[in-house]
This record gives sequence, C-alpha cells and structure tokens, in this order.
Amino acid sequence: MSTLEIRDLHVTVETDQGTKPILNGVDLTINEGEIHAIMGPNGSGKSTLAYTIAGHPKYTVTGGTITLDGEDVLAMSVDERARAGLFLAMQYPVEIPGVTNTNFLRTAKTAIDGQAPAIRGWVKDVRETMGNLRMDSSFAERNVNEGFSGGEKKRNEILQLELLKPKFAVLDETDSGLDVDALKIVSEGVNRAKANTGLGILLITHYTRILRYIKPDFVHVFVAGKVAEQGGPELADRLEEEGYDRYVGAPESAS
Ligand code: ADP
Ligand code: MG
Ligand code: MG
Repeated sequence: MSTLEIRDLHVTVETDQGTKPILNGVDLTINEGEIHAIMGPNGSGKSTLAYTIAGHPKYTVTGGTITLDGEDVLAMSVDERARAGLFLAMQYPVEIPGVTNTNFLRTAKTAIDGQAPAIRGWVKDVRETMGNLRMDSSFAERNVNEGFSGGEKKRNEILQLELLKPKFAVLDETDSGLDVDALKIVSEGVNRAKANTGLGILLITHYTRILRYIKPDFVHVFVAGKVAEQGGPELADRLEEEGYDRYVGAPESAS
C-alpha cells in the first residue's frame, strides 16, 4: 500500500518584509484510496502546503519531512515528484501559451510513464475523458488554459488527473468558482479517478459544498499553518454550521 507522509513540516516564504513562516508543523498521513479534506480559512497556508508537496521553488522547507513510500520527496525535483506519482491541481491553473492541450498531455504522460503511450488507445482515452468532463473536443487543440474560463480550467486539471493516473493528488480549491453543474462534473471526474486507480486524495477546500459529491474519509481543519483539529466527515458538517470563528479566535492563530 502506498503512503504519503508529512511530518512536522515547517515552511517559509520570502516576502518584501523578510522571511515569513507559513507552515508551522504540519502532520498528515494519507494512504492510497483515502480521501482527506483540508478545510481552513483564507490565508491559513493551504495552498502553501499544496505547492510545497509539488516542489514549488518559492517555498523553503525549514523543518520536517515529506515521504512517499519512505522515499524523501523533498530531495526530489518537481519532475521526479511527478514521476513518483504526485499530482497537483492548482487553485489558479497556469496558462501555457504556444502549447496545445494534446501536446501537453502527451508530453506529460510520456515523461511520467517513461515511454510514450500507444497512440490509438491514448487518443481514445483523451477523447472519452474529455467527453466525460463535458469538454468540447476543440479544447484538445487549444493552448493549455489560454482563454479558458475558471470552470474550464478546473475541468482541464481533472482531465490531467484522469489521464496521468498519479498515486496521490492534491486538489487545491478545485471547487472554487464552479456552478453546481460544473461542480458535479468535476467531482464525478475525481470519483472516477479514485475508483479506477485507487489514488489517495488531499482535497483542499474552503467550503463544505464539494464534500456532498466527494466523500472524505478524514477531515482536517487547517488554521495558522497547521492542523488544528481532525476528525471524520461529521467535522465538515460542524464547520458548515459554525464556520471557522472558533478556531480563528484561538491564541495559536494570532499572527
Ligand atoms: P490559503 O491557500 O490557505 O488561502 P496561502 O498558502 O495561499 O493560504 O497563503 C498563506 C499565507 O502566506 C498568506 O498570508 C499569504 O499571503 C502568504 N503567502 C503565500 N505565498 C506567498 C508568497 N509567494 N509571497 C508572499 N506571501 C505568501
Ligand atoms: Mg486563499
Ligand atoms: Mg489557497
């Protein structure tokens, strides 16, 4: 069984005002096939956690470990992390001018698998997956995310997730900015990916709405750069009613 393990993770970022600590001792263990929801107020460091797992150079790890099946993720380059089976769906997906979606997907798939996918099966997979995500076939030949609406970008992230078949996926606010129909389509894609490959999922969200469609096994409340509380799905129900006030008022979250 595959396991992604985060231990006592401390992360800083360089700002104009100097070095700013953002993650202050994150502990999290995700096994394959598990869905973990991370919920927390804006600015609590959720995206920082996502970027740190993916290896974004802006974030400096000052303490702690991230391991994937015992291998040191922090020692890996961004490419190596992807090849090891880590995937990040970004809160704000980037546009890649001059690179078509099909070329991007094929290049990424080839890099991750170490060999090019057999062309006929691949073309069929891409077409089917786009159909499932209600993406018009014209999106295949458009440049990655260029001129895509917010919702189209989020679908495109899930297209990558379904085709690249990682072991662990970090989904950073994949629900934000989606209307209910798009939310269902995106959630179905995530649930399909889990059913097909048994991946582990770190689902970062500000709102409980997406948890009606993607059922978490565990819920972690993230405040001031660390997990303030964890529980099962019932914790999300309580957050829905009470919001984050209770946590944000705590001395620990003072900045
Ligand atoms: P969340 O995703 O929970 O809203 P973020 O991880 O985006 O939180 O941000 C956490 C804190 O770190 C915020 O105060 C944010 O302004 C700060 N921060 C994150 N990234 C940077 C950066 N690259 N430069 C400066 N500050 C940053
Ligand atoms: Mg935010
Ligand atoms: Mg964020």
